[in-house]
Amino acid sequence: MYLKSLEISGFKSFAKKGALSFTSSITGIVGPNGSGKSNVAEAFKFVLGEQSIKSMRGKRGEDLIWNGGSDGGPIGTAGGSAGAARANRASVKLTFDNSRRIFPAIDFDEVSVERAVNRDNSNEYLINGSQVRLKDVTELLFAAHIGATGHHIISQGEADRILTASIRERREMIEDALGLKVYQWKKAESERKLERTEENMKQVESLRREIAPHIKFLKKQVEKIEKSREMRAELVTLYKEYFAIENQYLKTEKARLEHELAAPTKELEQLGHELDKAKAILAQSVNKDAKSQDVIDIENRLASIRGEKDAIMRELGRIEGEINANKRAIEKEKEKQKRDEFKTVYLKDLEEVVEKGGLLQSVTDVIALLREFIKKHRNASDSTLIGEAEKEIAALVAEKSAQDEKLRGLSGSETKLTQEYDALRRKIEQEKDTNRDAEKDVFRIIARQNEVRGLVSTLSSALATIRSEEETYKRELGEAGMIAGREAVDFAHIDGAVDLPQGAGHGRDSQQERKHKIERIKIRLEDAGLGGSADVMKEYSETTERDAFLARELEDLTKAKLELFNLINELNARIDFEFKSGILKINAEFNSFFTLMFGGGKAELAVVKEPKRKKKSDAEELSEAISGDIDMETAPDGAEEDSGPEGLEVNVSLPRKKVKGLMMLSGGERALTSIALLFAISQVNPPPFIILDETDAALDEANSRKYGDMIESLAKNSQLILITHNRETMSRAGVLYGVTMGSDGASKLLSIAFEEAVKVAK
Ligand code: ATP
Repeated sequence: MYLKSLEISGFKSFAKKGALSFTSSITGIVGPNGSGKSNVAEAFKFVLGEQSIKSMRGKRGEDLIWNGGSDGGPIGTAGGSAGAARANRASVKLTFDNSRRIFPAIDFDEVSVERAVNRDNSNEYLINGSQVRLKDVTELLFAAHIGATGHHIISQGEADRILTASIRERREMIEDALGLKVYQWKKAESERKLERTEENMKQVESLRREIAPHIKFLKKQVEKIEKSREMRAELVTLYKEYFAIENQYLKTEKARLEHELAAPTKELEQLGHELDKAKAILAQSVNKDAKSQDVIDIENRLASIRGEKDAIMRELGRIEGEINANKRAIEKEKEKQKRDEFKTVYLKDLEEVVEKGGLLQSVTDVIALLREFIKKHRNASDSTLIGEAEKEIAALVAEKSAQDEKLRGLSGSETKLTQEYDALRRKIEQEKDTNRDAEKDVFRIIARQNEVRGLVSTLSSALATIRSEEETYKRELGEAGMIAGREAVDFAHIDGAVDLPQGAGHGRDSQQERKHKIERIKIRLEDAGLGGSADVMKEYSETTERDAFLARELEDLTKAKLELFNLINELNARIDFEFKSGILKINAEFNSFFTLMFGGGKAELAVVKEPKRKKKSDAEELSEAISGDIDMETAPDGAEEDSGPEGLEVNVSLPRKKVKGLMMLSGGERALTSIALLFAISQVNPPPFIILDETDAALDEANSRKYGDMIESLAKNSQLILITHNRETMSRAGVLYGVTMGSDGASKLLSIAFEEAVKVAK
């Protein structure tokens, strides 16, 4: 037993709360015409979620609410002698026994379903007292094989609905009765999901398509950044090598020169003192003569010329250095300019120029705009810089030649003086006079001085070169730190002599080559000009992550799509199988009930195809196939393309009668046939309960008995609620309820005995 009780309150003629308890497998409801019996059947429909008000004999939801008594004074006044005021709300509550878990989703032994409608047409649904949606009620009932098409509630005069229905409607009724609706409902839901999934796939695909060019662009940027990082790393290595070797070189070379200079410098100093002494002797000499004076004069003049020469040489060294520096600057700028030939500019920047109104005007304006654009995008190199450097060089060269000129003049004077001096020296030497010792000393000292001075000058100039190289080295260290970071100047752990990579040259040529390489990389790095590279890397990783996420999403969706396809196919196969096997079982029962009723004959349901929707010519089909209009992927039910869905026909032949077909049946025969079919269906897939509203009305006594027998066999599997005027039917009920209507127009429910029921029914 599944049904426990039905409570009605304010529904149609049930003004006051009334209740029916279903304690027997067959419950009879009896009462005079118009007392409200059918309203009870409709109360069942209502509480089970029926949405068609018409099928409950109303136009609006309001029609289902008790509308006030006819006899009890003005409508809406409460407490009249007999009438009850109209209600604002109709509610019906149906309670099931769930101890056998016919509702597997609810873990309670009792399940109540309640529905109420208000005058504003709003509906409320409750399951076990909790407010739910209609969908929840429908799903709950589906699971217990209580469908919404109401194949288990046969309203008054509707017994032969199954015979008058179209073959397609009939198929739907049978599918519902066979419990296939739940699969069809799942299938429809899966199809909806499939559609949504395909839509989502399209969206994800289009999103991926949208970001693809952006990723491509960012990837190129990232590659550039990575390339610059490689270049920077190479630069750091080169710098370290260069500095380590340079540092070592400068240190040793400086030490060597300083060491080599020490002795001659000291000697020169010594010679200076000796010369001073000798000259002092010469000056005080009693035998001082013109020759001695000449020696002193020439000596003084030579010393001053040499002093001047030294100064000029130093100046020349400075000029040379400056010329070299300027030349290097020019070379660097020219290298930069060369790179401009292949300079990449951003499309965005060019687009900006195109958008400028100037392009619409004269050619001169266009040229001016383009010049401005080129100027803006040229490398930071500056032709004015080259111009200035060249001017500087020219000035320095002029200065140099002036100094050279001076130097030549001085050298001329020096040669002349030296010749004079040599002549004088020879003369003095010829005079083998001891008094000439002092002069001889002077000559010897000067000769030695010249020798040593030459050596000192060579070494000093080498030392000066080293010192200037040291300055350059210091400047380069600072620059390297700025361009390539601290790492580049962190070479302390590299021993320039020992630790260098195999094959790394230590010579000045190798260093020069390294320096060139460093300059080239510096320029290339400058060209790359990758400001904001951290942002680009971040954007790239974010965008690729997003793309990967979308790809995973697409994969998931594709998987889901395949699963839905499979599910739909499975459901189709299941529906098909269960439908066909269900029909076979129904036919066996149908035929046996039918022959029982008519004492012979034959009855069956036959599966038929509806006429083709549109007859397509072979040529049309061929052209569709070629153009790919028939997409098997999106039409899993491809078979429906050319034939309508299957329907069900009822074929009967009565015993001893030649005529066949439903049209030929009498009213009573029709009633019997439909009862046989309804019972057959209910026998194959028994619903928890069946409500039959005067289905037996047209039966004669003999058939009433057969009807009674069939009811008893049906009651073994389903609970029956029979609204009836038929005495035979009443006799089969275990419990009988009488419905009466008082003068106030309100229906009342009461439990009654069989004899009373017979009286009430009349
Ligand atoms: P029969 O044996 O002739 O089929 P029945 O017992 O099935 O009769 P119902 O059709 O259930 O009778 O009841 C119809 C009665 O219910 C009518 O008298 C009708 O006026 C009354 N009724 C229907 N809707 C309302 C309503 N909203 N308010 C009050 N009474 C209503």
